[in-house]
Amino acid sequence: MNQSNKNNLKFIKNLGINYFLQDSPRNWFQNNNIFIKSQNHNTDNNKLSQINEVMKSIKNHQTPLKKSAKKLVFYDGSLDAKVMFIGEAPGKDEDEQGIPFVGRAGQLFNKMLAAIKLRRENVYITNVVNWRPPDNRTPTDKEILEFLPYLQKQVDIINPDYIFLLGTVATKAILSTPLALGKLRGRWHEYKSFKLNKVIYTIVSYHPAFLLRSPQYKKASWEDLQMLEKKLNNENEDT
Ligand code: URA
Repeated sequence: MNQSNKNNLKFIKNLGINYFLQDSPRNWFQNNNIFIKSQNHNTDNNKLSQINEVMKSIKNHQTPLKKSAKKLVFYDGSLDAKVMFIGEAPGKDEDEQGIPFVGRAGQLFNKMLAAIKLRRENVYITNVVNWRPPDNRTPTDKEILEFLPYLQKQVDIINPDYIFLLGTVATKAILSTPLALGKLRGRWHEYKSFKLNKVIYTIVSYHPAFLLRSPQYKKASWEDLQMLEKKLNNENEDT
């Protein structure tokens, strides 16, 4: 190979192209991200402005939690996600950074996502309550109800295909049931919003903070994650 060909190859490799001339044609323009709905810029802007409206309403909502909390913790990830993950409420690290799931539980959560080949950038992550409760206490039923309209609005705007509920508080809020997680996990629930003309397949599982305290539940959590992975993969095969 002469020097100019070698330089060409190096140039192509540096562009991120690792192979050429395969058995089947490759569509370079195909959207490789199967976890994000196909994007339309009008929808994007529309979703963004609607989500910003929700954020403003939460900021304007008067709640005693606001007095002790530092930062509003709203959402992270993609507005076009197929999967919405819902946690409980911000902890200390989230309160400092204003981003959900960034502390120890968040690190485990990132690993849980990676285990089923998901990343934070292609799912939508939020909490039931958006201000940190003092001393990390569990949000009360009153607080859950107070923040529920904002959570419901987010579901309607994001319009996910799947909801993954992390823990009892998220389960109470979305499925309106005080039943124990052990009774609800391991199967799909069908969630319907008045505003969306569809069923959102919903799964209930353990909260990462609980898994840090009780690692013996990690196996069950892994099974729940695999149920989601299977749905996403099957969906991709059907298209
Ligand atoms: N626990 C939650 O439920 N949410 C967070 O954002 C962090 C910890």
